[in-house]
Amino acid sequence: MSTSIPTENVGSLPRPAKLQEAIAKYDKGEITQDQLAELQDEACRDSIERMEATGSPIVSDGEQRASSFATYPLADTLAGTGLAPNLAGDGQYFAIFDDGHHRQLPRLTGGPFRYKTFAADYLKKSMPMASKPMKQAVIAPSMLSLLYPLDGEIEGYPRAQFLDDLVDECEKDIRKAFDAGAVRVSIDFTEGRLANKNDPRNPWTGRNMLQEFVDLNNRVLDRFTPEERRNIGIHTCPGGDCDSVHSAEVDYAELLPAMFQMNAGYFLIQLASETDKERVYKLCGEHSREDANGVPQVCFVGVIDPLNPTVETAQQVCDALVTAAKYIPKERLGATDDCGFSPFSVDVKPKHGSPDIARDIAFQKIAARIEGAKMAGEQLDM
Ligand SMILES: [Zn+2]
Repeated sequence: MSTSIPTENVGSLPRPAKLQEAIAKYDKGEITQDQLAELQDEACRDSIERMEATGSPIVSDGEQRASSFATYPLADTLAGTGLAPNLAGDGQYFAIFDDGHHRQLPRLTGGPFRYKTFAADYLKKSMPMASKPMKQAVIAPSMLSLLYPLDGEIEGYPRAQFLDDLVDECEKDIRKAFDAGAVRVSIDFTEGRLANKNDPRNPWTGRNMLQEFVDLNNRVLDRFTPEERRNIGIHTCPGGDCDSVHSAEVDYAELLPAMFQMNAGYFLIQLASETDKERVYKLCGEHSREDANGVPQVCFVGVIDPLNPTVETAQQVCDALVTAAKYIPKERLGATDDCGFSPFSVDVKPKHGSPDIARDIAFQKIAARIEGAKMAGEQLDM
């Protein structure tokens, strides 16, 4: 009896149109936080039920309560309602996307830096809604390090002190998620690929920060035992927002050798939308480590493109995994989606027609991944 290739989603799903309208009303003060929370709960329940119905062995709540994958610790909504203390709205660009839109981070104005909301605060509300094991995505310290001004120091709060506080908060974020019942915690690291973009409109992408990011993230990972790190992952992608990307042109060969230096037990790697997939499978095989300070690195390759409304077939998923197994040892191979289906809460999913249609498509795509991973497990005699 063979078993499936392990498979896991990244985290997010599009927020239903009704919820996105409610977020806008909440930002304008037209509805209360309780009224918003009611719709968030409803969206989480629907996300979990439908993800469970795909046959997925592990589910998430689709991050329906989060402002975004990166700003959930800092603000209640993407527009900045409920911004945490010591932050202002006008920080660095997190990314400028290929379709011309951008997303901006807050700016740190003083210390100490503290999370206002931990991922577990949301997870705790969703756990009772699930009958299958849950995962939780958290944001990487490397992303939040961009809250600190790129040049100069904040008076009375040196950069080194900020980074110490940041590492403490990220460690807490992960531990709290496990304590709340998550069986897996993956760290979103979309800034990794962007770090080599050299986009003159976005200064930090021209500062060769990748190694700094990797070292900072390892400061958090190294606080966990090998047994814990088996279930701590890293997600890489070229971005995924409004069906657009920010760094797909950056060669994976510039990212992967550094990325696999992080002592995580698994990696969720965008790959379905790559033009030369075999080359990237090969790079993953070459650079992922059998022993990352006591834990093998499992490569979950992307087999689903959440930005493209065309639903992959299970056969396509299976074929991709069988090809990947030529380059990545099958004991260290898994299947994932290229990204969350909507990392930012406000996202109309333009190529899909609407966020509600995009939700329907997302669950069909997840079902194809689950089925294809099973087929590949049989074919590879797992
Ligand atoms: Zn992503």
